[in-house]
Amino acid sequence: MATSLYTLIAHSFPDDRRLVAIEAPDRANLGKGFRSSWSFADLESNAARYASLIADLGLKRGDRVAVQVEKSPEALFLYLACLRGGFVFLPMNTAYRTDEVDYLVGNAEPSLMVCDPAREEEMLVIARKYGGMQVLTLDGLGRGSFGEAAGRVRDAHPPVDCASADLAAILYTSGTTGKPKGAMLSHGNLAANGLALRDAWAFTEHDVLLHALPIFHAHGLFVACHTALLSGARMIWLARFDSDQVIRHLPEASVFMGVPTFYTRLLDNPAFTRDVVAHMRLFTSGSAPLLAETFDEFKARTGLAILERYGMTETGMNTSNPYEGERRAGTVGFPLPGVEVRVMTDEGAECATGEIGDLQVRGQNVFSGYWRMPEKTTEEFAEGGWFRTGDVAMIDADGYVHLVGRAKDLIISGGFNVYPKEIEGLIDDMPEVLESAIVGVPHRDFGEAGIAVVVLNKGASLDEDTLLGRLKETVANYKVPKHAAFVESLPRNTMGKVQKNLLRETYRDACR
Ligand code: AMP
Repeated sequence: MATSLYTLIAHSFPDDRRLVAIEAPDRANLGKGFRSSWSFADLESNAARYASLIADLGLKRGDRVAVQVEKSPEALFLYLACLRGGFVFLPMNTAYRTDEVDYLVGNAEPSLMVCDPAREEEMLVIARKYGGMQVLTLDGLGRGSFGEAAGRVRDAHPPVDCASADLAAILYTSGTTGKPKGAMLSHGNLAANGLALRDAWAFTEHDVLLHALPIFHAHGLFVACHTALLSGARMIWLARFDSDQVIRHLPEASVFMGVPTFYTRLLDNPAFTRDVVAHMRLFTSGSAPLLAETFDEFKARTGLAILERYGMTETGMNTSNPYEGERRAGTVGFPLPGVEVRVMTDEGAECATGEIGDLQVRGQNVFSGYWRMPEKTTEEFAEGGWFRTGDVAMIDADGYVHLVGRAKDLIISGGFNVYPKEIEGLIDDMPEVLESAIVGVPHRDFGEAGIAVVVLNKGASLDEDTLLGRLKETVANYKVPKHAAFVESLPRNTMGKVQKNLLRETYRDACR
């Protein structure tokens, strides 16, 4: 069996390659010169053309291609081109500011950066700093120097026969240290997980996936695209989530995937009715906890049960509620085929049924390690190849996995991970500040949001707007706390550790 993910995908396409593979309704009204649909044959020829261009630029197998672009079908072709040509795809959140991109480039040393035209100058500065990185542009409508150059090359680049262990992508995920770590994902990791999900969720070529997730994250790029591509299903591709637009296109779709925030926003829209979704086969949720209240409200409104699943960048998807069978609110279901899951006590023994402990996973889906961080990699793996997820969980008597918390101090805001350490570091560096702590509190729209609790130096003054304004200049907006509170001192335990649980309690209603 072919192991290269590209080959697996191409083998899954329907025999009639003229069928529509991807549609971008956002493009439909732009007039001449803008396509709004592409066939499976187009996907293949564009992947070949883009791979040709990347090879012509001098990149070799294993070289990294950093990509920070708006979501577009062309961005997907670029991903497929990397899979096809054996280049390593390195997507970056479009919200990342210069300093964040600078760190990633310094760590991953990509040979090519494809960025939005509006950020070309910024990227050229970073390219000069590290040397050896070429910069080309691609905008949300497929224009820019990358698109133009690709139009001039042949579409005959042959697919490279990648081995299962060959790197396909590096996705950066922040850690408790605050420094992002590059999770190395192989063709084998991605293929195993994509095939497992396709089968578990009964995807076929008759499906139409309404795709509204960003594609710089594992959820939108791997979970959504792989299930569709590995079954030859069609995708309706929205540049971003907008509840009106989703509701407009649901009648043409059979599957929708979202983060919990998508579901609360759909439920807030009076046009989201039972009629709009009566024909839908599946709604899935993940990346953050789906409140039982949202699950119940969705069921009452539509008659359908959202299928919640659990995964992470390093592992792909680990567990899923059943496609056939009871989908239980507040649980993330059972381990997927090929994935082993165990819950461990602090002493290293396996927990009994119902007992809470650290969740560990093992399987072909699990990444091989963090890019250029061998010590970090060793730390995160227990003996026998078990990856410590950092999630705290319990398995009930029926085998359903319940996530009950996170050992890592992570906040998930609107489905995006915010690591308090990174933001605390930036606040602590402000001259007026003595120390700070960031905690996550419930937020109606984002699920969770950060609150900064700040202690100022004696005699110093700083207001909330100035503090938050400075953060907005240096980090992506989703990482900026929603509020800052100024206090005399932070509560600490006898070991000197800040008692974040007390802060969470104090500020619990700050974002309701
Ligand atoms: P990421 O690497 O960005 O995908 O984030 C992974 C983390 O998201 C996991 O370690 C979990 O803490 C969290 N997560 C993912 N799916 C779920 C879910 N269904 N319920 C609760 N937390 C989740």
